[in-house]
Amino acid sequence: MSDPTNAPDLKSWVGSANEAASDFPIQNLPFGRFRLPGESAWRIGVAIGDQVLDLRAAGLVDHADMNRLMQRAPNERRALRQAISEGLREGSAQRATFEAALLPQSAVQLGLPCEVGDYTDFYVGIHHATEVGRQFRPDNPLLPNYKWVPIGYHGRASTLQPSGTAFRRPMGQVKAPDSAQPVLAPSARLDIELELGVFIGRGNEQGEPVRIADAESHVFGITLFNDWSARDIQGWEYQPLGPFLSKNFASTVSPWMVTMEALEPFRQPFVRAEGEPDPLPYLDSQDNRERGAMNIQMEVVLQTAGMAREGHAGDVISRSNFARAAYWTVAQLVTHHTVNGCSLRAGDLFGTGTLSGPDKSQSGSLLELTTGGKSPITLSNGERRGFLEDGDTVILRACCEREGARRIGFGECRGTVLPSIQGDAQ
Ligand code: MN
Repeated sequence: MSDPTNAPDLKSWVGSANEAASDFPIQNLPFGRFRLPGESAWRIGVAIGDQVLDLRAAGLVDHADMNRLMQRAPNERRALRQAISEGLREGSAQRATFEAALLPQSAVQLGLPCEVGDYTDFYVGIHHATEVGRQFRPDNPLLPNYKWVPIGYHGRASTLQPSGTAFRRPMGQVKAPDSAQPVLAPSARLDIELELGVFIGRGNEQGEPVRIADAESHVFGITLFNDWSARDIQGWEYQPLGPFLSKNFASTVSPWMVTMEALEPFRQPFVRAEGEPDPLPYLDSQDNRERGAMNIQMEVVLQTAGMAREGHAGDVISRSNFARAAYWTVAQLVTHHTVNGCSLRAGDLFGTGTLSGPDKSQSGSLLELTTGGKSPITLSNGERRGFLEDGDTVILRACCEREGARRIGFGECRGTVLPSIQGDAQ
């Protein structure tokens, strides 16, 4: 571990950052946008314990444009991280300056972490792809291109929402298997998708693909991402061009981008099982094999309206792990996305796709967890769920832990389902 900002024994003069359970110790330093009540413009912040450091107020940047900051070259990003780490460290001579730039996270509004231009959703979770394929096409679960092409589709940035936002259950065309024609109705099979969000920092020029050796220098950081999905709308519309209105009504993003520098201690070899094909050469490198994967543990919490009324924080309904779930690495996604000359820009967002593990208890969607709603789960208060009901809140969490490193967390990605607008739509 060469970067001193990741040293496990570093402590901050911000006391809450040193608590073992804090997602935001001084080794993390994730970036996000915040504002005070009554403000319209976003500021750039870094989370430290239960506080947020205003980077401009601390004299670390001279603007409040996150997308501009994200375009920095890797050495400039590391220099900024180093300066933040030194200022927040126990015994820092800059403590007074930084202390004046600190605000409690509870006193600010956290937004989307940057302005998102384009959003692409991938499909890297092979266990998810196989199980969903089995339900939609029993005779042909995993299509033959899956093990060669990092499959993705272009989504919409307009309906990305910051954590803590509620959204309406979508209306859409649905068709029962025994009906001759579809009807317009509120989705009855509303689902979650446990994903990570990959934020692009440096862009590339149109016509200039990003080689895999350079791919990670174009990635700024990683968030949690819940790609809410309407399975009944999806089932009727997805052929031949893929998901459309079943996906683009809402997706929730967590506020803090955990940087590639903070994730460094949690990198691990990217290994495919025996018998799996090697990626084509443009998607392969020694570096990607040796450290392309990231050991990120994730969980899904469901809190029903009834639980919320009783002050119950919700049940963990699934636990998964990025490295175990993913058939492709972040570097491979960047390289594949640009191989045809497609340009990426600062603030572009990739969803990884649903990150289910091999076991049912590691399902990243209710579609898998309840086998398409056929086997509802029973929650700790006795309620049952096949798919989401109005008033349900879903909270995604993630962290990285390993021997010899300080645990870092991603905060939370929270969203609540509101009733549909059926009355207005018909
Ligand atoms: Mn998705």
